[in-house]
Amino acid sequence: MSSHPAGPEIERLMQLLAKLPGLGPRSARRVALTLLKKRETLLDPLAAALRDAAAAIRICDTCGNLDTIDPCTVCRDPRRDAHVLCIVEDVADLWALERAGVFRGRYHVLGGALSALDGVTPERLNLNSLLARVNGGIDEVVLAMNATVEGQTTAHYLADVLAPSQVKVTRLAHGVPVGGELDYLDEGTLSAAFKARRAM
Ligand SMILES: [Zn+2]
Repeated sequence: MSSHPAGPEIERLMQLLAKLPGLGPRSARRVALTLLKKRETLLDPLAAALRDAAAAIRICDTCGNLDTIDPCTVCRDPRRDAHVLCIVEDVADLWALERAGVFRGRYHVLGGALSALDGVTPERLNLNSLLARVNGGIDEVVLAMNATVEGQTTAHYLADVLAPSQVKVTRLAHGVPVGGELDYLDEGTLSAAFKARRAM
């Protein structure tokens, strides 16, 4: 690989940027160059924002959401229905549902989906506290998994795990296209799928 005509700091910046979703080496170079050219208006504020976020970020002990407070903003909001629990794979899904504004209960973030291929077993998911939460006065559990093989495998696994607790278990309805990830759905589609959720 040919060397880049820039110092190691800039090289490192580009290497890190290339790890971001949607950025390959080429776009990382372009982003880095933009940052370097706009030092005062972009690079310095971004560096400060990254440092602040890194220092402030907390993982909610209750639900697994990312926030700057623990319990997170969602978990400590007294106006939300504490008897309905929506299980999602990732924080991105929680944020997508919040953007759609369709759900007013609480969440539980699994931190992934079951996948034999990727070696994601139930032990790797945030399941321990889930049963305790469900048995602590939950009326309905909404399974809001992605419409992928892994997501649906996870949904069926959870339905089995939750069966003994006799809680009402529902899942998102049509509108979530096969292979679809919640984060990529428009708010209207996600909202419709949520409202038309059905029992498993
Ligand atoms: Zn929380």
